[in-house]
Amino acid sequence: MKKNILTGLRPTGNLHLGHYFGACQNYLKMQDDYNFYLEIADVQALTDNFNNPEKVRKNVVEITMDLLAIGLDPKKVHFFIQSRIPEIAELTVFYSNLVTVARLQRNPTVKNEIAQKKELFGNQGESITYGFLGYPVSQAADITVFNGELIPVGDDQLPLLEQCREIVRKFNSIYGKTLNEPEQVLSTTTRVKGLDGNEKMGKSLGNAIYLIDDVETVSKKIMNAVTDTSKIKKDDPANPDVCMVYYYHKLVNSKNIDTVCQECKKGHRGCVQCKRELIEAMTNFLKPIQENRKYYEEHPEIVHNILNEGTNAAKKTAEEQMKKVKQAMKIDY
Ligand code: SF4
Repeated sequence: MKKNILTGLRPTGNLHLGHYFGACQNYLKMQDDYNFYLEIADVQALTDNFNNPEKVRKNVVEITMDLLAIGLDPKKVHFFIQSRIPEIAELTVFYSNLVTVARLQRNPTVKNEIAQKKELFGNQGESITYGFLGYPVSQAADITVFNGELIPVGDDQLPLLEQCREIVRKFNSIYGKTLNEPEQVLSTTTRVKGLDGNEKMGKSLGNAIYLIDDVETVSKKIMNAVTDTSKIKKDDPANPDVCMVYYYHKLVNSKNIDTVCQECKKGHRGCVQCKRELIEAMTNFLKPIQENRKYYEEHPEIVHNILNEGTNAAKKTAEEQMKKVKQAMKIDY
């Protein structure tokens, strides 16, 4: 029996290289070995975008097309829409009695996100909703309603998984052993830095290359990427380790990386030429993904069918799990 693995993505925009190298590459490896549930987390996206539902709806299809384009196979992966599984919302309510407000406020991932909101939006960042504060509870419901045994997470997400385990332990101690404690599969990939050198790549930071970016967009972004600012003239030696162009060469042009490094250090390469080479390598990297995507753009009915079939399979699993939960809680009237 294959183990259940669950992961989710918020449909708030297209996938960028940060998603690809930081998570999706792992999904590609895992799809053969696990019973893979991939949640398009529209309800969770609404915690930040409750006043912009059109954006979330549009991106459910957009992000699904991105995921199919990179090579995830709908025969191996159940793509499902979170809001179409009401059992998740039901379980979230049951779990909300098992976690204190103080514990949620102490959750390091939640604390970080609140701090980021304050940085981006000033005082508005203090208007944290009940829904936002409670999203780790909703995530615990996401995981356990599918009996998620393995969860691929980056180290920044570990506190959310620990919160889920705590809820599971509390549930089992009160209502009897019903739920499995999920384990993490730590991502072997790393977080991708932005073109500006920021530790995180993101839409709000304006430092991302998207999988759908055309040549012109990629060129503009790479031409503005941060390099070694101490290099003034073309033949000045420089330090590639502080240069974001070199950083991206490592991701998409690894076969030439030694040449780029040595020539940069010796002052045998100019930054403009170096950026042009990166543009070419990046375009070659994105091309097959964009060609795959084009097929789904021309056949939206296929994308909708994939989401329908995945959601039906996920709902069946969630219904079975909820029967057990309600029996344990003595609300199986
Ligand atoms: Fe960066 Fe290339 Fe310029 Fe070196 S030559 S600083 S690696 S852009």
